[in-house]
Amino acid sequence: MHIQENVSLKQYNTFGIDVKAAFFASISTVQELIELLSNNKYPDPFIIGGGSNMLLTQDIKRLVIHLNIKGKEIVDASFSDTEVLLKVAGGENWHDFVLYCVGNNLGGVENLSLIPGNVGTSPIQNIGAYGVELKDIFYECEVLHRTTQETRIFSIEECAFGYRDSVFKNKLKNEYVITSVTFRLTKKDHKIMIDYGAIVDTLSRKHIENPTLKDVSDAVIEIRQSKLPDPKKIGNSGSFFKNPIISQKEFDALRAAHPIAPYYPIGSDQIKVPAGWLIEQAGFKGKRYGNAGVHDKQALVLVNYGNASGQEIWNLAIKIQSEVKEKYNITIEPEVNVL
Ligand SMILES: Cc1cc2nc3c(=O)[nH]c(=O)nc-3n(C[C@H](O)[C@H](O)[C@H](O)COP(=O)(O)OP(=O)(O)OC[C@H]3O[C@@H](n4cnc5c(N)ncnc54)[C@H](O)[C@@H]3O)c2cc1C
Repeated sequence: MHIQENVSLKQYNTFGIDVKAAFFASISTVQELIELLSNNKYPDPFIIGGGSNMLLTQDIKRLVIHLNIKGKEIVDASFSDTEVLLKVAGGENWHDFVLYCVGNNLGGVENLSLIPGNVGTSPIQNIGAYGVELKDIFYECEVLHRTTQETRIFSIEECAFGYRDSVFKNKLKNEYVITSVTFRLTKKDHKIMIDYGAIVDTLSRKHIENPTLKDVSDAVIEIRQSKLPDPKKIGNSGSFFKNPIISQKEFDALRAAHPIAPYYPIGSDQIKVPAGWLIEQAGFKGKRYGNAGVHDKQALVLVNYGNASGQEIWNLAIKIQSEVKEKYNITIEPEVNVL
């Protein structure tokens, strides 16, 4: 395994930010990962997967390990009458994995088509889209402890999945590297989910009455391509901010001042407010500030129009945060990892 020095990370993060890693290694086996994590010469290495959930604001003075472990294996073909268990290595690209499932008549992930990033990162924020979350098809994941290099399996209960949340973002943040994920997928009697977002409309426009896994995947791809900027063309990290969750009291104050504010009740005293709406109402949608900007179709997405530095994008994020706070008295927090 070759450790390079002074490597640009521009091609390794979807914002396309040109910062440097003091040391860099792309690893393709768990053994290589163990060797690097146990090498005292490189303390506290930073793991990078698809680089689609991070904003790099400065050079990384540590070792950056690019997780590139590949492989898929059916570990139980008759897990139940209708399901198989498929184990997928952490460095597999998420969308390639979805296409593999769709092509091999394995159901459950089709609504999660075109989400960037790696399979190994997917449990961290319990990725989700179009009515499906990772937890709906998750069986278990295998992890390596960063300091002891001990291997361990996490069950679905131990992962404590929530909305864009898991134990790996909270109690066990930065403790483990996820090296593989095992999925529970249908081999027949697929549960086609089309009642979310524009999927039904897209299918009916194509006169599809009994959609296959591929029909659903194609519809999701089409919808996402029409709404979200392609990171290969314009740098971005998807939704930059989380949707804030506020108390009933705070929500009453918001609605008194802004009666049309959209909302989603969650639980008895908590309300989720779409951050995209707050940002749009604060006047940022489609605005450009130098090389950084807010996407014109989706206000939650910050974009790099060319050679923005990470600091430029971060300055814009702070400006948005403070104006939303001033206007609505609501704090919006970044969903992406800011370094
Ligand atoms: C255009 C676009 C659209 C998006 N749409 C969605 C969406 O619909 N739904 C959704 O949920 N998300 C979405 N995202 C966010 C993103 O795709 C997910 O968060 C994805 O899981 C990130 O994976 P990654 O491999 O790129 O993570 P990275 O950015 O490489 O890493 C994220 C964090 O995880 C750590 N990490 C990376 N790999 C591992 C590992 N194997 N073990 C432990 N820690 C690790 C890193 O150190 C970093 O702190 C979108 C992003 C973009 C750019």
